[in-house]
Amino acid sequence: MHYPEPIAQLMESYMKLPGIGEKTAARLAFYTVNMKEDDVTRFAKSLISVKRDLTYCSVCGNMTQNDPCDICEDKNRDQSVILVVEQAKDVIAMEKMHEFKGLYHVLHGVLSPIEGTGPEDINIPVLIKRLQKDEVKEVIIATNATAEGEATAMYLSRLIKPAGIKVTRLAHGLSVGSDIEYADEVTLLKAVEGRREM
Ligand SMILES: [Zn+2]
Repeated sequence: MHYPEPIAQLMESYMKLPGIGEKTAARLAFYTVNMKEDDVTRFAKSLISVKRDLTYCSVCGNMTQNDPCDICEDKNRDQSVILVVEQAKDVIAMEKMHEFKGLYHVLHGVLSPIEGTGPEDINIPVLIKRLQKDEVKEVIIATNATAEGEATAMYLSRLIKPAGIKVTRLAHGLSVGSDIEYADEVTLLKAVEGRREM
């Protein structure tokens, strides 16, 4: 089928989103044509804003509008504990729990020999520098319970423990392969409280 050019272009953009094929893209594009102009303008502006107005915190790697981020700048938080997660969205999941008062470090990935992802390819060097100068007493590793997540936890533990810093891992209330972002708050809280030393 031959779509009018503006529709075809919009469909092409929608199809760049995960899980959206041609049929869904066509449905969304035609739906957009019938949206109010104000709503479309707001939608377009917010798309640009997430790229222009967000950056990653140079300290912890979290997604933020200010660098350093609000969490790193909050002196009421426990500066002696760093919780290490895979993605910025894991920080949001943890913060929803309202129980963890330490700091974070976002790796932006996991070690994966198969995909050729080494320690230098994710946010590990910055973490090591942080541990050298900050007064950190405990690092809680909250990578997902996948093979790569476990391997990354192991690697970090071997790297950090010789510096005399306690390394803990979230309890396996989170089932194997389950993502932190999908865990409910009670499960997350139990996983943090039940963390064990590596
Ligand atoms: Zn930060």
